[in-house]
Amino acid sequence: MTNPITPEPRKESLAMHTSRNSRFGLTVQADARVPFPYSPTPTACRTQPQTFAYDRGTGSDPEVQARITRAKATCRRCPIATACLQWALAHPELTPEGIWAATTASERTGLRHKLIARLGKDWVAVVADRRRVEGAMH
Ligand code: SF4
Repeated sequence: MTNPITPEPRKESLAMHTSRNSRFGLTVQADARVPFPYSPTPTACRTQPQTFAYDRGTGSDPEVQARITRAKATCRRCPIATACLQWALAHPELTPEGIWAATTASERTGLRHKLIARLGKDWVAVVADRRRVEGAMH
């Protein structure tokens, strides 16, 4: 099931995420089963967007590597990193590049392959079901 991205209830976060990918000129459908997690405080990727610049570039470029390392370290301190990773993995069209939840685009691609191997092609449904169960228990 897909729904167009709507700006509510996480207007600023989703607007930021959309703008990070607007350079591709894509109209992207968000999967409502795995919404972007709520954060009571602004996330670092929103307050420090320069830290989360694109991770493309030559692998040997020290500046690119330093930026990736900084962004990953920042994500690891983020209180919504786990749910952010689920969202990023479920939304490849919205996360084709850049650092999300301490992962690069190629790392996310590898993780998606592992999820398909472990949970099947509709792994997003499995993850969404688990999230729903976990949410009901809290
Ligand atoms: S884990 Fe990283 S990309 Fe995800 S919300 Fe937190 S700071 Fe942003």
